[in-house]
Amino acid sequence: MRKVAIYGKGGIGKSTTTQNTVAGLAQMGRKVMVVGCDPKADSTRLLLGGLSQKSVLDTLREEGEDVELDNIRKKGYGDTWCVESGGPEPGVGCAGRGIITSINMLESLGAYDESEGLDYAFYDVLGDVVCGGFAMPIRDGKAEEIYIVVSGEMMAMYAANNICKGIMKYAQSGSVRLGGLICNSRAVDNEKEMIEELAKKIGTKMIFFVPRDNDVQRAEINRKTVLEWNDTVPQADAYRGLANAIDQNTNFVIPKPLAMEELEKLLMDFGLMADA
Ligand code: ADP
Ligand code: MG
Repeated sequence: MRKVAIYGKGGIGKSTTTQNTVAGLAQMGRKVMVVGCDPKADSTRLLLGGLSQKSVLDTLREEGEDVELDNIRKKGYGDTWCVESGGPEPGVGCAGRGIITSINMLESLGAYDESEGLDYAFYDVLGDVVCGGFAMPIRDGKAEEIYIVVSGEMMAMYAANNICKGIMKYAQSGSVRLGGLICNSRAVDNEKEMIEELAKKIGTKMIFFVPRDNDVQRAEINRKTVLEWNDTVPQADAYRGLANAIDQNTNFVIPKPLAMEELEKLLMDFGLMADA
């Protein structure tokens, strides 16, 4: 089973990209479990057709330790298993710890057992910067293959670079590796070239360029992934392409994050080209 985590700046499109990619993997016949690791608990909304999954932490709070697997996972589009880890009450406790509690609970209830036949577990992880808490899935070896969602906007690239620092720190002693950058386009000038260059400097690849497309919103309003909403639109093909690229990927590296000056130079080189 491949243990994949999706990181990136808040609002960059982690949950949207994760669910559409997972839908693509499901169409390819892969068996996937998605574990939402954001206190917002919106990581499985499109696969489930609404915010219908009660989070693991809420379930534990309300029902005590006597929890069954069916209480915390639900079947979504393409027979995917959907879990939301949830979070602590706002302002109290560490959300990262909640993620580990949830994953441990899933493990002890057998969600990862051979008999479940999972090909993938996907973790959709909140975190602009890899704070101690949100690095936990990486630190504890729960996620081994990381993809970072990024765009050509400066703060998204800055966050991606920071996440690489977190991965690098834990890669030396553990098995976590960077699988690549996913460019979720914000239609910035020279975006594709700039992210390709960023990836190269970090020692990885831009595994896929996902166009910005209003069909994402159209599907979202219908509480569906693009693939479920309308299989024939170009954006559905894009997500299938990303799913295929991840499925075929063999390029797993320890990233080499950039110094701030290098990152700024990259932005300037490509940004200035746009002005010319
Ligand atoms: P995150 O999980 O990183 O916080 P979301 O996946 O919730 O971000 O995405 C934020 C918003 O961006 C979503 O509501 C979605 O409508 C929009 N979005 C994401 N990717 C695309 C895209 N490729 N094209 C158009 N809109 C997108
Ligand atoms: Mg999200």
